[in-house]
Amino acid sequence: MMRLPWFSYRAPRTATEAARILAGEGPTAMPIAGGTDLLPNMKRRQQVPATLVSLRHVEGMKKLANGAGLTLGAGLTLTEVADAGIVREKYRALWQAAAQVATVHLRNMGTLGGNLCLDTRCNYYNQNYEWRKAIDFCLKKDGEICWVATASKRCVAVSSTDCAPALIALDAKVKLVSAAGEREVAAADLYKNDGIDYLTRRPDEILTEVRLPQASGWKSSYWKLRRRGSFDFPVLGVAAAVRTASDGTVEDARIVLGAVASRPLVTPASNALVGKRLTDDAIAEAAAKAASRAKPLDNTDLDIYWRKQVVAEFVGYALKEIRGDDLRATRVRYARHAL
Ligand SMILES: Cc1cc2nc3c(=O)[nH]c(=O)nc-3n(C[C@H](O)[C@H](O)[C@H](O)COP(=O)(O)OP(=O)(O)OC[C@H]3O[C@@H](n4cnc5c(N)ncnc54)[C@H](O)[C@@H]3O)c2cc1C
Ligand code: SF4
Repeated sequence: MMRLPWFSYRAPRTATEAARILAGEGPTAMPIAGGTDLLPNMKRRQQVPATLVSLRHVEGMKKLANGAGLTLGAGLTLTEVADAGIVREKYRALWQAAAQVATVHLRNMGTLGGNLCLDTRCNYYNQNYEWRKAIDFCLKKDGEICWVATASKRCVAVSSTDCAPALIALDAKVKLVSAAGEREVAAADLYKNDGIDYLTRRPDEILTEVRLPQASGWKSSYWKLRRRGSFDFPVLGVAAAVRTASDGTVEDARIVLGAVASRPLVTPASNALVGKRLTDDAIAEAAAKAASRAKPLDNTDLDIYWRKQVVAEFVGYALKEIRGDDLRATRVRYARHAL
């Protein structure tokens, strides 16, 4: 049985107090929300914070406010996000992403904020301490070499959050609170393409809110590839959002790929759609463009070449679903339930 290492536990009531504790304790302290990622990582000694700052009792973290757009507290569980009628109706990509994270139990505990700040993943890293020790560890933790790209000075562990690509496609912003004040950053700017230093969030900042713009005119969709349709992390996530004029011409579009780099990848493929209708040809062109950007590495599940090949297909599914095609049968092939 793997045991947790010793740690101190703090349970502040406000985000500012939480941020103050983080600032005071320095980089050996970490926030904990649902703990569904952090606690297993601690058991495997991938992350060994000396102090955990719990966000469970922090006020305002469960906010759900629908006004000029939608504000979601970072402490909402993924179940609460997926169950919110407004998310399902107007921000479908987020609903589909949240509803496909892990399992029911993990979604009942795991939060939106924790999902956005999720550690990057790699076959050589998500292993217990003895396994990692046997290969002399790796760059990301305790070692000096990257086993995926041995000449690389940079860790290429994979961004595996389902909600981040969806929120980037939906043009969301996040609020970060520190002892010095607060700032708002675009969800797209929360990430860096570095498997170790993968967030632009400073260690003393708490992500408190996700802010979505009004959804009028937009339709969105999220498609996820994984081995087991009811359980696994994505080995590919495709989020697309499209705004069309009344005659069906695309006015704006965003296509974001997850699990193909150390950060969600915003593709320029949307340029292929603007000014056109969502015809099969336009979709095929955008899908091919998006796929050309994806460079999956051999450090997650499933065959790397096949994962690269299916990117275009998945972009196509997302766009066709936005067009209004009935893709429930196709979804059932990849997930246990048709979303
Ligand atoms: C078997 C299994 C399967 C999984 N499958 C998936 C999957 O398919 N897709 C997926 O996306 N995830 C998956 N996960 C990971 C995880 O369950 C979810 O990502 C979940 O949403 C994490 O949220 P949490 O609240 O539990 O985060 P925690 O574990 O509490 O924290 C995760 C990280 O975020 C930081 N953090 C948490 N909240 C905040 C905040 N508000 N501000 C700043 N930093 C914060 C923590 O310090 C930590 O670094 C899986 C986990 C397991 C164990
Ligand atoms: S990508 Fe390389 S450095 Fe990063 S976790 Fe994997 S093996 Fe380690």
